[in-house]
Amino acid sequence: MKLFLAGIFFVSIFSILVGNSAYATNGFEQVNWRLSHNPLICSFEPTPSKSDTITKQTLLNEGEYSVIDWSQKLNEGLGKHPVWILTHKIIPISEQHDSKSYSNCDVIMRYITSYSEDAAHYGLYKGGVTTFDYNTNKAYIKIFFSDMSQAELGNAVRHEIGHAMGLGHYNVTPDERQRIKVGAEDSPSIMNPYITSTNFYSINPIDVNEVKRIYGLDGFHGTNQVFSSAIPLWIKNDAVDCCSTNRGLYVVDSVLLRDMAVTGLIQSKDAVFEDGLDSTHSLRYQFVDNFKNHIAEGWVNGTISDKLFLSRTQELLDNGQLIK
Ligand SMILES: [Zn+2]
Repeated sequence: MKLFLAGIFFVSIFSILVGNSAYATNGFEQVNWRLSHNPLICSFEPTPSKSDTITKQTLLNEGEYSVIDWSQKLNEGLGKHPVWILTHKIIPISEQHDSKSYSNCDVIMRYITSYSEDAAHYGLYKGGVTTFDYNTNKAYIKIFFSDMSQAELGNAVRHEIGHAMGLGHYNVTPDERQRIKVGAEDSPSIMNPYITSTNFYSINPIDVNEVKRIYGLDGFHGTNQVFSSAIPLWIKNDAVDCCSTNRGLYVVDSVLLRDMAVTGLIQSKDAVFEDGLDSTHSLRYQFVDNFKNHIAEGWVNGTISDKLFLSRTQELLDNGQLIK
């Protein structure tokens, strides 16, 4: 159940947001994604629909503010010698037909009306999605913005930029989550996937430190290297919790696949963070027949190795045999 709900993050009610690591200890999930140089973050000028309550300018401003916010926090204390250079650029609608106009963008951010097929595809009404393209080393962000409050918009854009820089979700204990949800405590991290619609989350020192931990102190110069074929413990813990109950059916939802995809363990077109606000829908893959069941069950029980589980899962994905 926990895993099932976990596909949706960053919910506005952000509170019904259920993350995927209730039993994980506090800390960041590790993602196999790095920027190789100072990023140019490009906001595509949006084409809102008539139903949207947020204006185009509000969206573009929030993109600008969020980049400035990250930049200032990362460079705090560095005086006149900032090393974390994030640049924001707007790609006007008139230039969007020409891919040359944005070929040098490292992060491409699109603000898309929630009344779109794209939003429906992700099952998101409000929320954000970050996708990594390991071939071109570009990250793609989509913000489904209709009816977002200012807090939701600000949190979502900062959160997705965090993903684009290589940050995973920051998990808190269930108790802490509850206190944050009722406003008794501030979120310790902008990467907390459990969000409330009314609270502004800050880019906190913990977020800044995590960026500096994964890149070092000299700025963005990472390489994307696929981790070893061992599946990290935090993924295993979630999966075991998900699948070890005696349901007669081993369900592996998109979050497990997402987790494996964003860590580079498997290659999937769905290698995305989906951060949904007010969403009740989650993509869910199932191992439905005996053969597939056997793989999931064997892996959970430890009779099938990580390596074999990954290669079989990759096969199933490639052959379209995981059912959404
Ligand atoms: Zn997220």
